[in-house]
Amino acid sequence: MFRIVKTGCIDMAHRIRGHEGKCRFIHGHTWKVEVSVSCVNNSLNALGMVIDFGVLKKEFFQWLDDKFDHSFVLGQGDEEDLTSFSSHDAFTRLASALGVDKLNVVFLPFDVTAERFAQYLFKECVVRLNKARAAGARPLTVDYIRVYESLHPNESYAEYSPNPVR
Ligand SMILES: [Zn+2]
Repeated sequence: MFRIVKTGCIDMAHRIRGHEGKCRFIHGHTWKVEVSVSCVNNSLNALGMVIDFGVLKKEFFQWLDDKFDHSFVLGQGDEEDLTSFSSHDAFTRLASALGVDKLNVVFLPFDVTAERFAQYLFKECVVRLNKARAAGARPLTVDYIRVYESLHPNESYAEYSPNPVR
């Protein structure tokens, strides 16, 4: 079978509610995201590719960068707590005090761990490649998404795949 792997990096802050250690505090990582895509029945395209790396960049990694790079992600529990805090006003005031137009806060329906982020990105990647497929691309399979939470001095990552670990 043929498989391609592409990676991209974003800088993103998060925190983990309920964590007993320092991860309960707001902190950031350079998150490396690795996507593996294979073609069905070894059916390379006319140019001999599983998918053009440029298409994968356009359909997935550009969205990832636009939505999450230099953002601060909060989970649903934080969002519920912040509702009573008038978070919109508070974030707007804080951004203004810091002299920026926004704080780029992204709310997700879960606290971001590498595992949950990998599962979320897997679903998004499938949806985005299916859209490209509807526009004429061939059937493809997203094999897995890996989310690296730390790169130095040692790499640590979580992987999500709907299939058993190879
Ligand atoms: Zn972290």
